[in-house]
Amino acid sequence: MLVNGLIVLATVAAMEGVATLTHRYVMHGPLGWGWHRSHHEEGDGLLERNDLYAVVFTVLSGALIAFGMAGVWPLRQLGIGLMVYGILYFVVHDGLVHHRWPLRYVPRRGYLKRLVQAHKMHHAVEGRDGCVSFGFLYAPSVPALKARLQRNGTLAGERRGAAASPFRDAAGAPTAPPDRGGATAPPARGR
Ligand SMILES: [Zn+2]
Ligand SMILES: [Zn+2]
Repeated sequence: MLVNGLIVLATVAAMEGVATLTHRYVMHGPLGWGWHRSHHEEGDGLLERNDLYAVVFTVLSGALIAFGMAGVWPLRQLGIGLMVYGILYFVVHDGLVHHRWPLRYVPRRGYLKRLVQAHKMHHAVEGRDGCVSFGFLYAPSVPALKARLQRNGTLAGERRGAAASPFRDAAGAPTAPPDRGGATAPPARGR
């Protein structure tokens, strides 16, 4: 029983490593950018193509749990660990950072605040190259991330230049083109 619980916890912890590497090398690589790109661009729909990654991990978790229930140890524990990580990701990434569902809480200090800032730094770069902070639950300090961004020279503001989108509001945030979004643009999602 204790061993099974520990396997679940270890899986959750290991998933942060798996997710970081997947995000860094698959989603931001030539193979996976096709799906992930939608998450780095301003969209006006409820769903993004990037959500397909969540579908893949959900199916994988369900399959592991099913095989585990059929008697293959410790697949059920691995599947549950994967599911717990998915729930944490959904709360932190989709709720706390991107406000994709009505989570009103905005952390003002400590670990959760750093978590939100670190992921916003991930979105501070336009395009797939030169990004920082690929993890979701592990957040490096903001000054460290800023220094890395400066070294990369890939801050959105620095690259904007002549290629700037013409569809920006007074604050410089991207808005929907008039022919697509109508009169009111969707609120900026802090990317
Ligand atoms: Zn990304
Ligand atoms: Zn994000």
